[in-house]
Amino acid sequence: MKTYARMTGLYAPTLKEDPAEAELASHRLLLRAGMIRRSASGLYSYLPLAWRSLLKIEAIIRDEMEGIGAQEMLVPILTDGELWRQSGRWSAYGPELMRLTDRHEREFALGPTHEESFTDLVRHELRSYKQLPVTLYQIQDKFRDELRPRFGLMRGREFIMKDAYSFDADVEGMQRSYNDEKGAYARICERVRLRALPVAADSGQIGGDTSVEFMALADAGEAEIAYCDECGFAADTEAAAAPVQLEEGERGELQKLETPGCGTIAELAAFLHVPESATRKALALVDGDGSPAVCFVPGDHDMNDVKAEHAFGAYHMMTEEELAQFGLVKGFIGPIGLPEGVRACFDVSLRDSQWWIIGANEEGFHCVHAKPGRDFQIADAEWVDVISAKAGDLCPKCGKPLSMARGIEVGQVFQLGTKYSESMGATYTDPDGTERLLQMGCYGIGVSRMLAAVVEQHHDEHGISFPVAVAPYEVEVVPLDVCDDVVWPVADRIAAGLVERGVEVVVDDRKERPGVKFADADLMGFPYQVVCGKKAIKNGNVELKVRATGERTEVHIDEVASVLSARVASERA
Ligand code: ATP
Ligand code: MG
Repeated sequence: MKTYARMTGLYAPTLKEDPAEAELASHRLLLRAGMIRRSASGLYSYLPLAWRSLLKIEAIIRDEMEGIGAQEMLVPILTDGELWRQSGRWSAYGPELMRLTDRHEREFALGPTHEESFTDLVRHELRSYKQLPVTLYQIQDKFRDELRPRFGLMRGREFIMKDAYSFDADVEGMQRSYNDEKGAYARICERVRLRALPVAADSGQIGGDTSVEFMALADAGEAEIAYCDECGFAADTEAAAAPVQLEEGERGELQKLETPGCGTIAELAAFLHVPESATRKALALVDGDGSPAVCFVPGDHDMNDVKAEHAFGAYHMMTEEELAQFGLVKGFIGPIGLPEGVRACFDVSLRDSQWWIIGANEEGFHCVHAKPGRDFQIADAEWVDVISAKAGDLCPKCGKPLSMARGIEVGQVFQLGTKYSESMGATYTDPDGTERLLQMGCYGIGVSRMLAAVVEQHHDEHGISFPVAVAPYEVEVVPLDVCDDVVWPVADRIAAGLVERGVEVVVDDRKERPGVKFADADLMGFPYQVVCGKKAIKNGNVELKVRATGERTEVHIDEVASVLSARVASERA
């Protein structure tokens, strides 16, 4: 028979102090609430409360996967090195792949993701178009030897992932499977109560995106996202390629101007009384081939590392010595009269801009009224896309100003096409007997990271504030004095009544002071607290506290179970 849990029997060792190693709220609170414990760098045990939440997240994922016809199964975590060699990832994956050798000197890897395993599985048995499409998925531990495991469950070396793989006959089929998964991911985020944006992870091709990351909005997020309130466009700052709102310098003849001490954009803009966006910033670098280059970007924008690597290979910014070596004057670099051998590049956002304020390649001087095409030339090959989008840039879809937010990547969907079916020889036979490559998609959700993301979005200075959908328990009953022969029976009766109505209840049956109980209740974050105190009971009442809002109301002892069970039921995922 179902009964309520008792705090005295619960393995949830709470901590009074903030653990020193925890920077993020989710890391700190999951440790303090007795939900996780570190066993080694990037390795965590999920204690009973965390496990209950994780099972709820998994149940929501399973429900949504079933809804789109995906089938759950399980492949071994230990994967044959031979498969990784076939796909080319044995070398491509690098040190993140955890490799090991068995007693016969055969190589294996602990799966960081399972494209190889699933492709290998179906290539032997999925042979006819009649068997397609198929989407298979699993929920399983993944292993990645992350360079910097950190933030608790956020970036572990072992973590729980749901990973799915779709197999279709043609591209249209693959796109249908992809869109089904993408839709399911949006619903999963909603149901676990995560505010998340689907963010285009590639620049997007005609006919839609080919990869989308689901970003849970949180200040603690590692990713920076540009998004549009108006039309819903969202992209990470490196993929955004958003038009920039540029100020033009004044028109006129090219003029060299003395700008003493104006070695930074801020100093120059202040000196000339113009906005920073009217100036052009010169970034001196050495590209992957070892050649010197100067890249010009809008004065108020920065270069994005990932984009710059696309444009320049394994580049680095010039050191003081290198600037001197190539004859560049720090703070006063411009496209007119660059030293011989130094290549100029221009960010594409400057394409339509006419009147520039630029360095004069001379200490203490800038040029104003500089006009591309008249005062200096830009060859087609010199345009590059290297800046990070920022607030105020224009939405590439609708032209409204973009806003910025930070996000935690909780999931990603991918159209793979024939990447793996080709390298691993996974084919099927179409109706006229021709052998064709399977079209694949892959889809991952970080289940354990999702729990951390929920805590990032649902907490306050007192602790976690779980939404009912993923709370370890839905209601905590708090008898203020367990030895009191009026208080305890009321608490017991209410808890039993709630359990009878299908609610998940924990009772704080410890002989602790009320202050200690209240603090732990707020820390552990069960969505509703039923406080049973002697005074209220005398009037026939108990106090109902909503954890998220702090709202307290007196409810009659005989009504609280039915009122609360209805409320909880309406908030389940
Ligand atoms: P990241 O860029 O954060 O390293 P990723 O893009 O490498 O993640 P994917 O290969 O897309 O990750 O894996 C699918 C999902 O698994 C991610 O969206 C994320 O939620 C989760 N995940 C990935 N790496 C980790 C990790 N080290 N710890 C916890 N969850 C992770
Ligand atoms: Mg990803």
